[in-house]
Order: sequence, then structure tokens, then C-alpha cells
Amino acid sequence: MENGVIVSSKNKFDTKIEASSAKMYFHYYGQLLHQQNMLQDFVRTGTYYAAVMENRSDFEGRVVVDVGAGSGILSLFAAQAGARHVYAVEASEMAEHAQRLISGNPSLGQRITVIKGKVEEVELPEKADILISEPMGTLLVNERMLESYVIARDRFLVPGGKMFPTTGRIHMAPFSDEYLYVEMANKALFWQQHNFFGVDLTPLHGLAFQGYFSQPVVDAFDPRLLVSPPMHHTLDFTTMKEEDLYEIDIPINFVASVGTRVHGLACWFDVLFNGSTVQRWLTTAPGSPTTHWYQLRCILSQPLYVMAGQEITGRLHLVAHSAQSYTIYLTMSAKMWGEGAEQGGILQTSTAKLELKEPYYRLSQPQPYVMQQDQQQQLPSLQPQGSGQQMQDGLSPSITIEPDQDSAAFTR
Ligand code: SAH
Repeated sequence: MENGVIVSSKNKFDTKIEASSAKMYFHYYGQLLHQQNMLQDFVRTGTYYAAVMENRSDFEGRVVVDVGAGSGILSLFAAQAGARHVYAVEASEMAEHAQRLISGNPSLGQRITVIKGKVEEVELPEKADILISEPMGTLLVNERMLESYVIARDRFLVPGGKMFPTTGRIHMAPFSDEYLYVEMANKALFWQQHNFFGVDLTPLHGLAFQGYFSQPVVDAFDPRLLVSPPMHHTLDFTTMKEEDLYEIDIPINFVASVGTRVHGLACWFDVLFNGSTVQRWLTTAPGSPTTHWYQLRCILSQPLYVMAGQEITGRLHLVAHSAQSYTIYLTMSAKMWGEGAEQGGILQTSTAKLELKEPYYRLSQPQPYVMQQDQQQQLPSLQPQGSGQQMQDGLSPSITIEPDQDSAAFTR
């Protein structure tokens, strides 16, 4: 109450996120099968485990906040590393299951308090020395949970406290994939029929075509499809403002290594655990062991022709919206080759507008290329007991962690 007026008690989350989106989102994470899907991503969970255990000194005797605790797994890792106390904050119904899991592991659980609520609204009895969280979505930023991570930092972390993960990077490179392009274009061909049970479908062909090309493609692809060395954009979770995530504008600039047709921009991310003892990266790069995030590709409906050595410029512009995701505006340009090139070149420009919340999970395709050596090198040196089997034959763990289609919207 302020001057007799009821002041809105809405927190930052509720003011910017549609209630219907939040309801679906937390319903999704309230289900054990989706938590299991993340836990079974051995690259993900194993890298968190290694990052915590290799940096015990960052946890021993410290107060930890687990931001979006889910099943409580990261809280249990922090307790294993000697944390004095862990506050496990979880907004979904999963908080109850986390409580059960934590109570069932009493030697660790006695140092963990589960708090059900959003990190934007809950109050904690003390400040934390370190935050631990897994707030990454497709293209790093999907789900807009990084904003909650940054809000948790401002609300709960002591000045100069640590964050696990510390920074994140979005990597980008132009790609060439004729098969993918034809596959997408062919999907709209259905609407080219003039006599579908006596009905002319062609008036909707243009819209259907547009619709397919507005879906970012999520799958694991062969890194040999990349046309240039990648570039990256860094987000420092320890210093960035929450508002910096509302709009992310990345100028892009590449030099083509080969002459080919460029079908769009391939993206992936990594995060760094900047521990006092060991700096560990969790990467979702093509050619690295596959994670449940796979990689993301934005396709141009009008491919660009490039020659080796030619510059490709443009912009990747991400605009957050109230349904916990982003609209992607991609522009890519290259100088025209052939006749025009001698007169200084005519710029060919291609644009795309895509919806990050509506990706196309292209996972029933031929198995991704996996570099076996890399797979072994990247394995965390510390493996949780009994969880190594998935990797033994060098197969991608993607075989066991394919997201189910009906709930793909929030699959991380
Ligand atoms: N830390 C767990 C779960 C990661 S999934 C693990 O690593 O396995 C992210 C979790 O954060 C989900 O369970 C989701 O419900 C929760 N979450 C997302 N936004 C939140 C918020 N603003 N406040 C509290 N919990 C949130």
C-alpha cells in the first residue's frame, strides 16, 4: 500500500513474460522426464560435475545459490564439493521432487535448503559467495533464463562473488548445405497442387514456404559444411545488465574459404566455468560430442553465391519477446561475382526472419558426423561413477537424448 493505492506486487519476471507462456514453461520443467533428459546429457552433466569438483576451493565452506535448481542436481554437486550451505531455488513443481531427492541424500541434503519460487521474487536469509546455474537454451539465449541468472546475481551474490558459468559465447559461421535447403523448399511443394480433392492449394504456397524458412533448424551437422572460420559474441554474466539481453545485435563478417552457395548462418554456443583452479568450457560446437542443444541453423530462402576469399558481411539481430524467446533477424551480404565484380561488385543481400521458439528438430536424418578423437579428448577427466557407458563405443550421446517432439518448445 502506498497512499492507499495497492502497489503492483509483480516482479520483473511477471511484468515482462506472458502468464500463458510462463505456465507452460514451468509445467514442462515440473515433469521428471524433462529433467531426466537434461541429466542424461552426459556432456552437459559431466562437464558441470567436473567444473565443480575440479574447483573445490570455490565451494568449500561457501554459501551457494542454485538458480533454477530443477531436480537439485547442481546443489548436490556443490554440497559434494564442500559447500557450507546451498539454497536451491526452483519455480516449478519440480521443487517438491528436488526436496525428496535431497532428503534422500541426507549427508549432502542437510546442507541444502530448497526454496520454491522464482529467483525474481524469493528472499534468502544470506548472500551467496557463488551462484551455480544451467540457464542456457538453444542459441544460448532461448527461454530468456539468462535474465533470471543476472537478476539472481544482483539480488543474491556478494560483490565480486563467482558465477558458474561465468561467461557465454555465441559462435556463428556461414554454411553450405544443399540437402537441407532442398528439404526445406520441398516441404512447401505440397501447396503447389492445383487439384487437391478438387481444390487449388497454390494461393497458400508463398505463406507455407515463408513459414518453413522461419523455423531455425536444430540438428547436429558436419563441421565441414562451414564455409568460413567462425566468429563469436561474448556475454559476460558477471558484468552484463539484464536489459542487455532484450536486444542482441551482432555485426557479422566472414571470409569464405571456398567458392560455394551459402545457405545461411550456423550457430552454437559455449560457456566457461572460470574456476580458481581449472577453467572448463562446456561446448555445443559441431564436431564436438553432441549435446541435447545440438546446433542451430538459420536458412536463407535466397542463398548467396561466394568465391573463395570473398567477404560475407551482415548482422544477426535477436529481439526478445514476452513468450520467453527471440525473433531472429538475419542479414547476409556478399559481393556478386562474374561480370559485376570488375566494376567494384554489386552486393547481393539476403534476409531472413525466424522464430527461435518454433524450431524444426531435424533429428531423424542420417546420423551426424562425429569426430571420434575429439569425443575422447573432450570427455571430462572426472566422470561420475557408472555413467560412462553411453560413450564407450564412440557413438554420439544424442542417440539416447533425443527430445520428444510434443514438448520441443522448451527443449534445451
Ligand atoms: N539446474 C538443473 C535444471 C536446469 S533447467 C540442472 O542443471 O539439471 C532450468 C530450471 O530452472 C528449470 O527447472 C526451471 O523451472 C527453472 N527456472 C527457470 N527460470 C526460473 C526462475 N526465474 N526462477 C526459478 N526457477 C527457474
